[in-house]
Amino acid sequence: MEKTVNTICPYCGVGCGLAVKVRDGKIISVRGDKDHASTLGGICQKGAQVDQIVATPNRLASAQLRHSRGEPFEHTTVDAALTHVADKFKQIIRTHGRDSVGFYISGQLTTETQYVFNKLAKGALGTNNIDANSRLCMASAASAYKLALGADGPPTCYDDLDTAECFLILGANMAECHPVLWQRIKRRLARKRVRVIVVDPRRTPTVDAAHLHLQVKPGTDVALLNAILHVLITQRWTNETFIRNHTENWEALRDVAENWTPARAAKVCGVSELDIHRAAFWFGNSAESLSLWAMGANQSTSGVAKNLALINLHLATGKIGRPGSGPFSLTGQPNAMGGREVGYMSGGLPGYRDVTNTDDRATVAKIWGVPPRRIQPQPGLDAVRMFEALERGELKAIWICGCNPVATMPNCDQVARALRRAELVVVQDCYAPTETTPFADVLLPGAMNLEIAGTMTNSERRISLLQPCVPPPGDALPDWEIVTRFAAKLGFEELFSYTSAQDIFEEHKLCCAGNPALDFSGITYARLKRHAVQWPAPNTRGQGVARRYRQKKFFTKSGRANFHPVEFAPPQDLLTAEKPFALTTGRLANQWHSRTKTGHVAKLVQSNPAPFAAIHPDDAARLELADGDEIELASARGVARTSVKLDDTILSGTVFVPFHWGQSHRVDGCINTLTNGAGDPVSHQPELKFSAVSLVKIARHEPESELCDAATA
Ligand code: SF4
Repeated sequence: MEKTVNTICPYCGVGCGLAVKVRDGKIISVRGDKDHASTLGGICQKGAQVDQIVATPNRLASAQLRHSRGEPFEHTTVDAALTHVADKFKQIIRTHGRDSVGFYISGQLTTETQYVFNKLAKGALGTNNIDANSRLCMASAASAYKLALGADGPPTCYDDLDTAECFLILGANMAECHPVLWQRIKRRLARKRVRVIVVDPRRTPTVDAAHLHLQVKPGTDVALLNAILHVLITQRWTNETFIRNHTENWEALRDVAENWTPARAAKVCGVSELDIHRAAFWFGNSAESLSLWAMGANQSTSGVAKNLALINLHLATGKIGRPGSGPFSLTGQPNAMGGREVGYMSGGLPGYRDVTNTDDRATVAKIWGVPPRRIQPQPGLDAVRMFEALERGELKAIWICGCNPVATMPNCDQVARALRRAELVVVQDCYAPTETTPFADVLLPGAMNLEIAGTMTNSERRISLLQPCVPPPGDALPDWEIVTRFAAKLGFEELFSYTSAQDIFEEHKLCCAGNPALDFSGITYARLKRHAVQWPAPNTRGQGVARRYRQKKFFTKSGRANFHPVEFAPPQDLLTAEKPFALTTGRLANQWHSRTKTGHVAKLVQSNPAPFAAIHPDDAARLELADGDEIELASARGVARTSVKLDDTILSGTVFVPFHWGQSHRVDGCINTLTNGAGDPVSHQPELKFSAVSLVKIARHEPESELCDAATA
C-alpha cells in the first residue's frame, strides 16, 4: 500500500515541510511539501536524503545496560533498564538531595518530549537542573528579546524575506546553514532597491551575493552596530515618532552611541568608515529592513549585547512589526523554538514562564498537580555549569537525550572527565555509538523524527505536526513515552498519564493560556493535521498571525519596547604571542552537528569527506604550511589535530574549523576540545565562536605522486 505522509525535516530551524512517500512500510521518496506555508516545497540536500538516516547501521534499537563502565553493554528491555535507572535515581536523591540529578536534552526533540522532561525535572523531582543544547544555540537571542520586547520569540516571518529591501545578515552563513531561506533572498536580488549586507569575519558563500561585506574582526560586532546607530542618529535617519511613542530609555542609548563614531569602530572592527556609513544608509533609508542572525552573534560572551545592539537599530528606526522589517533570529535546530516555548532551559517553565516568578510557578504547579513549593524559585545549572558540577561531584547523575555533548560542548575534554566521574550516566538517543555513549551506564532507544507524532516550531513561530512515516526499529519508542514510563517507575504515574503526544500538547496549551505573549489558544492537533499554524493563534481561522507587534504594543510592563545601551567588550580569550590566532567554528552545508545522522549518507559524506582548518595563505606562508599539512591547534583548554586548507576567504589571523567531526573520527580530531565554555553573563551561552589558539605543523602533506616516487625509488 502506498501513502504520502507529511512531516518536518529533522535538521535545521528553517523547518521545511516534507512529503514522504511510503510503500509497504518503507520510505520510497522524499520531496519538499509544496503545501507547507513556511517553505512551499523548498528543501536542501540534507532534507532530500532524510530517508537514508532512518535505517542506518548505527540505529539504537534496544535498551542496553552495564553495571560497571569497564564491562560491555548487555541488551535488555526498556522496562528493565528504566527500573534500574529509577532505583539509582531514588537512591542518589535520597542520599544527596534532589539537586544531585540533572538532564541535558535537545532542540531536536519534539515539543511534547521537551515538555515531559521539563515536568519530570522541575515538577516531579523538584530540581531545575535541566538544560538543553539550545543554551549553545539561541539562549542569547531569547534573553535579548525578553529584555528589549518583553517576551521571547521573533516578531517576523519568512514572508518578510519577500518584502524587505535591506537585509542585514550578521554572523549567519545562510547560504550553507539556512539554504532554503537563502534561496528566497537570492530571488530578490534582481530588484533594483534590494541591498544585502553581510557582517562576517569569513567571506562565506553568503557573501558572494552580498552588496557589502563587513569583514569584521571576530567578536567586534557590538562596536560596529553601535557605530551604525551613531550614523543613523547623526544623519537623522531615526524614527522620532516611533521612539517617542513606543520605546523607553532612548536618552541612555544615545549617550552610548555618541561615543561610537565610525572612525573609532573602524579601528576596532577592521572595516572602513565608509562601509559603516554605507551600511547605515541602506539600513536607515530602505523602506523595510530585516536583520537576520544566528550563532555568529549568539555564541559569545557578549551574545546578548550583540542581539540588543541589533534590536536597537530596529527600534531606533521603527522598523519592526510591519511587513519586511524586524529583527529575525534564525534557529539552528528544528525545535529550539518549541523548547523555549516549554521553558526547557534551567530557568524556564512552559508557556514562556519563568521559575523566578511566583505567579508563574503557582500557575504551572496547579496544572501539573504539584505543590507550588515543589518548583524551585532559582534557575538550575545551565549546560556548562552542569558538566562542571558533575566533575566536582556535586551532581551525581545525568540523563542526556538527543545530543552528543562529548563532541559538541565547548571544552569537551572537561565533559568527558565529568561523565567519567558521574555515578550514573543515562543516554537516550536514536543512534549509537556516539562520542557520548561510551561514558554511559544505560542506553535507551528513542524513535527518530520520521517515526513519531509530535509538534515542532520553526524559526518563524510556525508549529508543524510530525506524523509517523514508518515504525521505529526494535524496541525504540517515542522519547516522550520513555520519559513517562520512567516517571511512573518513580511513583509519578498520575502526573504522567498521557496516552498520546496530543494529550501532552493539550496540557502545554493550558500553561500558555493567560500569557498573551504565547497565544496557542486556536491550535489543535486536528487543525495541525490540515496545515501548520503560526502563533500567536488566538482563533481557529487562517494559518495564525504572521507578524507580532503590529500594534506597537510590547510585552514589557509599560507596553513600550526597551532600548538597552550596550558597550563593546572583547572576547574572553586574549590573543597572545603564544596563541595569536582566533579560532572560529561553524557548520558546513551538508553536515549536521556531530554527524550521527549525516555521517551515514554517502552523498553528504562525499561532499564533506574530512575535517580541515581553513587558514589564510599569508598566515600559512609565515608558518611554512601548505595545503594538506597536518597541524596541531592548541588553546588554553586542549589540543586537536587536523589538516590545513588554504583559504583566502578568511581574515588573516583567523582559523575556521567545522565542528562536525568528533573523537570517533580520530581521537585528537575534535575541535571542541579547544573551544571556550565562558558564557554571556545574562544568557550563559558559551563563547564557541572565539578561542585564542596556536598552530604548529606536525607533518608535511605528501602528495600521492611523491609517495609513489618514494615507493619506487
Ligand atoms: Fe532541512 Fe534546513 Fe535543509 Fe530545510 S533548509 S531541508 S530544514 S536542513
